[in-house]
Amino acid sequence: MLNVPSQSFPAPRSQQRVAAGGRSKVPLKQGRSLMDWIRLTKSGKDLTGLKGRLIEVTEEELKKHNKKDDCWVCIRGFVYNVSPYMEYHPGGEDELMRAAGSDGTELFDQVHRWVNYESMLKECLVGRMAVKPTVLKDYREEEKKVLNGMLPKSQVTETLAKEGPSYPSYDWFQTDSLVTIAIYTKQKDINLDSIIVDHQDDSFRAETIIKDHLYLIHIGLSHEVQEDFSVRVIESVGKIEIVLKKKENTSWNFLGHPLENHHSLIPRKDTGLYYRKCQLISKEDVTHDTRLFCLMLPPSTHLQVPIGQHVYLRLPITGTEIVKPYTPISGSLFSEFKEPVLPNNKYIYFLIKIYPTGLFTPELDRLQIGDFVSVSSPEGNFKISAFQELEDLFLLAAGTGFTPMVKILNYALTDIPTLRKVKLMFFNKTEDDIIWRSQLEKLAFKDKRQVLNNENTWTQGGEHYTLRLDVEFVLSAPTSEWNGKQGHISPALLSEFFKRNLDKSKVLVCICGPVPFTEQGIRLLHDLNFSKNEIHSFTA
Ligand code: FAD
Ligand code: NAP
Repeated sequence: MLNVPSQSFPAPRSQQRVAAGGRSKVPLKQGRSLMDWIRLTKSGKDLTGLKGRLIEVTEEELKKHNKKDDCWVCIRGFVYNVSPYMEYHPGGEDELMRAAGSDGTELFDQVHRWVNYESMLKECLVGRMAVKPTVLKDYREEEKKVLNGMLPKSQVTETLAKEGPSYPSYDWFQTDSLVTIAIYTKQKDINLDSIIVDHQDDSFRAETIIKDHLYLIHIGLSHEVQEDFSVRVIESVGKIEIVLKKKENTSWNFLGHPLENHHSLIPRKDTGLYYRKCQLISKEDVTHDTRLFCLMLPPSTHLQVPIGQHVYLRLPITGTEIVKPYTPISGSLFSEFKEPVLPNNKYIYFLIKIYPTGLFTPELDRLQIGDFVSVSSPEGNFKISAFQELEDLFLLAAGTGFTPMVKILNYALTDIPTLRKVKLMFFNKTEDDIIWRSQLEKLAFKDKRQVLNNENTWTQGGEHYTLRLDVEFVLSAPTSEWNGKQGHISPALLSEFFKRNLDKSKVLVCICGPVPFTEQGIRLLHDLNFSKNEIHSFTA
C-alpha cells in the first residue's frame, strides 16, 4: 500500500528490497523509478485533475473514486488521487487498489508507516475528509489548561490501550535550579534505551517505549531551560527521571501546556516516527564504496539505538523528503573503543555503502562536515533477551548486512557470560568489499575464553584458553589469488559452518543481507532443523 519506493525495482541480485513479511515487488516499467516520479511531481502537471484546488471530501465521494484511472485514497484524514502514481508503486497497482475509494491508513501503516507520503504525494492531494474517518482529540481546549502534576484519570482514558501495559503516570518537582520530570512506568524492564527525549523550540517530548507501546509526554514548558539535561532510570521500580536545568532560578508555578498526544499510551505501530536533525561530524572511507559516517545528536536529545534496531535517515532530494533505513553501529569492533570529545551517547555511527546510481546514498555522500540529516527514532524487533544464557552464536552476513552484526558482536563478546563460541560467515563479492576485515581478524585473534581443557587450547599462566570467535569470508567473485571459501550461501557451506559445541546448546543464528540472500538462508536453516526461535533475520 502506498509503498513509496525505498527500493524501486525487483532487479535480480538487486539488493534494495526491504522485505517485511514476504511482501513481493513487481517489475516497474522503464521510466517509472522513484526519481522519475519526483520529476513528474515537479513538472507542474495537474496530478489531481482539480487544477490546484483543495476540496472537502465526503465518504460518499471518496467511495466513488475506486478505479485504477480514478483512484482516491484517504491517509490520516487527507485524500490523495493516487492514479498518476499507480505505475510507480513498487508494490504494484493491485496492492494500491486495495485501498481504492477508502481509508487506507491502516493498510499503509502495516506496510510502511515510515514512508513520507505527505512529501511524496503532495502534488496528488485532493483535500481533507469532510468527516474524518478517525476522530482525533481536540487539543485546542487542552492547550489552554496548564499542567501541574498528574492529570486526572478522566483525561487519560481516551487513548488507553485495552490490552496494553498498565498506564504510566508522571509528576514533576523542582529546586531553585532544576526541574525533574518523573515518569512512573510500572515496568521493570525499562532502561536508558527505553526513553527518547527531544527538546526543540517550544516542544518538550519524552517517548518511553513500554513493550509494544509508546508513552508520550509532550509539553510546551512554561519557562526556558538550558540545552542539556540528564536522564536517569531506576530500573528496580521502572521510574525515569529527566532532570532539566532552569535558565533562571525562579520558581515555576506550573510545568507547561499539554501538546498533541500528551500523556497518551499508543501502540507503537500507530505512532509516526519522530525525526531530529543531526550534524555530520566525520566521514571516513572503509572500503572503496562504503563509508563510516558519524552523526552528532542535538544537545537537547537523549536517544540510544538498541542493539539490532535501525533508524531512518531523511534528506530532501530535489525538494522531496526521502527516507531510507540504516542500522547504527558502534564506532569500532573493539568494545574498549571510546567516543572522542563529547559526553557519552551523543554520536551515532553508520556504515553506508554508496551506490553511484542510487537515489539516497549519493546525496548522503555529498553532505559536507557540519551539514545536517534528519534521524528517526529507532525501530526493529530484535530483543536482547535472545542472548539470555546463549552458548553458540552464529552470524550470517552479506555486504552491508554486516551492520547489525557489529553491535551484536560487541555485546556478545563482552556481556554474555555463558557464551562459548561465536562464528561469523561473511559473504562478499571480492576481497576489496570486505568491511573491517583487519578489525575482524584482530578481534578473532584477541578474544579468548578460559576453558578446562580441550584440543584447541593454549596455556597461559597455568590456565587453558581457546579462541571464541571464528570469522570466515566467502567471496562470490574472487580473484585467482583468493584461497578462501567461494560461492553463495548454500547447504554445503552452512552444514560445515554449523557445528554445535553441545547437542543441546542454546543457540542463536542472526542473518542479514540482500533480501534473496536472507530468504534463502532462512530456508536452509530450517532444512538444518533450526527452530524459528533460534533464527533472527534482519529486515525493515
Ligand atoms: P537505490 O536507489 O535504492 O538503488 C540501489 C541500487 O539499485 C543502485 O545500484 C541502483 O542503480 C540500483 N537500482 C535502482 N533502481 C533500479 C532499477 N529500476 N533496476 C535495477 N537496478 C536499480 N545500507 C547500508 O549501506 N548500511 C546500513 O546500515 C543499512 N541498513 C539497512 C537497514 C534496513 C532495515 C534495511 C531494510 C536496509 C538497510 N540498508 C543499509 C540499505 C539502505 O536502506 C538503502 O536501501 C541503500 O542505502 C540504497 O539506497 P539508495 O537510495 O542509495 O539506492
Ligand atoms: P552485495 O555486495 O551486492 O552482495 C553481498 C554478497 O551477497 C555477494 O557475495 C553477493 O553475491 C551475495 N548475494 C547477492 N544476492 C544474492 C542472492 N540472491 N543469493 C545469494 N547471495 C547473494 O550486497 P550489498 O550491496 O552490500 O547489499 C546489502 C544488502 O543488505 C542490501 O540489500 C541492504 O538493504 C541489506 N541490509 C539490510 C539490513 C537490515 O535489514 N537490517 C541492514 C543492512 C543491510 P553476488 O556477487 O552474486 O552479487
